[in-house]
Amino acid sequence: MEYTGTDLNYLHVCPRKLWLFRHGIRLEQGNELVQLGVLLGEESFSRQEKEIAIGEAGVLDWADFKDGVIHETKHGKAPGDGDEAQVRYYLYYLNAHGIRADQAVIHYPKKRETVTVEWNEEASRLTEADLKTCEAVVSGPIPAAERRPYCKHCAYEEMCFV
Ligand code: SF4
Repeated sequence: MEYTGTDLNYLHVCPRKLWLFRHGIRLEQGNELVQLGVLLGEESFSRQEKEIAIGEAGVLDWADFKDGVIHETKHGKAPGDGDEAQVRYYLYYLNAHGIRADQAVIHYPKKRETVTVEWNEEASRLTEADLKTCEAVVSGPIPAAERRPYCKHCAYEEMCFV
């Protein structure tokens, strides 16, 4: 199966969320936090932003290919290093297709913070492990709902905890 950066992010947030999303149960468009993220991305980086589709892997917010740097904007940090897993996968995808990408910068404009993820052998190993885990989760039965601190921000909460 092909996976996207969002899939890898969800894997780190909650395997059940990944499973629901990949089985076509998608509530995220109506989620206020997701909409806020879209707004922040558009308003905070309107001058630099130039979205770049990278096949099935996803869409980069913008990139400086001359320096091998890609950029991702987030409204807040995903739990469980999901954001790092997402951009690592973008680096993996680009390098696998012969496009140099050495570094990803994740921007959190609300917090005025950035996180940098480097591309190296360890990043490649982590991404390949994530892809295998995605496959195991998506091809298996739906994971049980386990209450996590993040659940109250998750669009699937009502579906998981009735
Ligand atoms: S509500 Fe909680 S258990 Fe359900 S998908 Fe979201 S994060 Fe996972």
